[in-house]
Amino acid sequence: MLRICSLFLFVFALSAEQADWIWSAGYVITENSNARVIENGAVAVRGERIIAVGTRAEIEARFTARQRLDRPDAILAPGLINTHTHAAMSLFRGIADDMRLQDWLEKFIFPAEAKNVDAEFVRWGTRLGCLEMLLGGTTTFTDMYYFEDVVAEAAREAGMRGVLGETIIGFPAPDHKTPVDALGFTERYLARFASDRLIVAAVAPHALYTNSDETLKAARALANRFHAPLIIHVAETKKEVDDEMSKRHTTPVGTLDSLGVFNGLTVAAHCVWLTEADMAILKAREVGVAHCPSSNMMLASGVAPVVRMLALGIPVGLGPDGPAGSNNDFNMFEEMDLAAKLQKVSKLDPQALSAASALEMATIGGARVLGMEKEIGSIEAGKRADMIVVRLDRANAVPVYDPVSQMVYALKADDVRDVMVNGKPVVRDGAILTLNQAQILEKAREYRDKVRASLR
Ligand SMILES: [Zn+2]
Repeated sequence: MLRICSLFLFVFALSAEQADWIWSAGYVITENSNARVIENGAVAVRGERIIAVGTRAEIEARFTARQRLDRPDAILAPGLINTHTHAAMSLFRGIADDMRLQDWLEKFIFPAEAKNVDAEFVRWGTRLGCLEMLLGGTTTFTDMYYFEDVVAEAAREAGMRGVLGETIIGFPAPDHKTPVDALGFTERYLARFASDRLIVAAVAPHALYTNSDETLKAARALANRFHAPLIIHVAETKKEVDDEMSKRHTTPVGTLDSLGVFNGLTVAAHCVWLTEADMAILKAREVGVAHCPSSNMMLASGVAPVVRMLALGIPVGLGPDGPAGSNNDFNMFEEMDLAAKLQKVSKLDPQALSAASALEMATIGGARVLGMEKEIGSIEAGKRADMIVVRLDRANAVPVYDPVSQMVYALKADDVRDVMVNGKPVVRDGAILTLNQAQILEKAREYRDKVRASLR
């Protein structure tokens, strides 16, 4: 009998497929096209990709894994996708809050940037941002700032996926004094990261109102030459729209479209003040929208027409924006919660935007915004293994009637326990594996003193 048993095990071991990892959890939220949630589910990973998803019993019958992670009291979900932020500004967190945008920019941010932002500032700020984002379950971030090659190096070191755009702006910036210099640098940057596993290099003209038409056209042409995304702030404030209307009698979206800026993969951040005609343009040009509810609320920018955009089929993702004066953190759980609640309260309709829609925007919807929906955003065989485990063993997490609703309205970034990006664990049991947390926190404190002294 013993011999038959061992023979059976031997044959079984031979026939089982090999995986590098099996992660199992009480619930697997897949975000596949059927929005399937699997109770007692598991995911098999080989190399950089997910190779199978199913019930724990199915996966265990089919695969043997070199390593396993079993979290029966948790949710396994796709890694969260941040579609708009400025990571290195984390070192300015809380520098000047509760102010008018113009005062905030002119009295604090521009002087603080001019006196402090260099490559090392960006490196430490991005490390701090990646640390917070990974610990909170964000596996992909979309960034626009200066020294974006350094942002890319820091993201790669953190093991985080990034769509990272070099900012091009019509006045002297910390890294380049003219848009021509910035465009030249961006071209070299795009070439350097052209085939990176984790980094998608992008072109990021700051906004319509901070760039000339020529710079905007050149930015689009450069992005298209490298098949790179273009990231831009669009129609964030009523003032931006009013100014453009009095200047050219068109909306910012109308002007950008007539300049050809949307002729290629575009991530438009904010899109708060849109007309029906603007939304028709965004839909026709397949522009992705990064909705930033915390930022829009904190800066009193307004309420983006998210429900209408989703109904039209415009891809909408979520972003924390910020983190200095316009949020001030990188918490995608908060963005999901606020995205749903902001639509509800502004429409006086509790059914305006559901938990399922909010979670979709933070995952597969965000992937669509970035043109990466075939690679990330859901837990499906063939996709990159970007996934998170969120604990269900705390006071705010029990009981569970609906895991999707729990993710959006009850769970917190701090409940994230494990994170995998591109097949590699980067957070294990709430601890970062890729970065030196103590050193990053210490550096952030040092920068606070330096920035404060520079503003005296
Ligand atoms: Zn922004």
